[in-house]
Amino acid sequence: MSDNETIFSKIIRREIPADIVYEDEHVLGFRDIAPQAPTHVLFIPKTPIATLNDLQTEHAELAGRLILAAAAHAKELGLAEDGYRVVMNCNQLGGQTVYHIHLHLLAGRQLHWPPG
Ligand code: AMP
Repeated sequence: MSDNETIFSKIIRREIPADIVYEDEHVLGFRDIAPQAPTHVLFIPKTPIATLNDLQTEHAELAGRLILAAAAHAKELGLAEDGYRVVMNCNQLGGQTVYHIHLHLLAGRQLHWPPG
């Protein structure tokens, strides 16, 4: 685990504003500042872990909680039937820019595959 400090730590501590749409004991969900789809929400663990490479077996439940939170939020918004995408980027070639793991929930338009 990493004790890295990123802009997401500041969001967790409410030191900078964010449009928070989901919160439980372990996970925070907030709207992406540069949305790539009509719905674009980031789900982050309240514990900072830098990248997927830093995940340990002890984080299995936490990692699952990110997915469950995203799926529950999509359902709550009525997006589940039409469909959506969840994405986690890892390091430079994966397109990761914030080094606190996060799961993107993208929905509300046709998403294409493969990604660019
Ligand atoms: P990634 O490129 O996978 O690391 O995703 C990081 C995401 O964080 C990007 O989609 C950014 O638009 C988003 N982001 C960066 N800063 C903020 C912020 N202050 N509030 C909300 N989203 C942010």
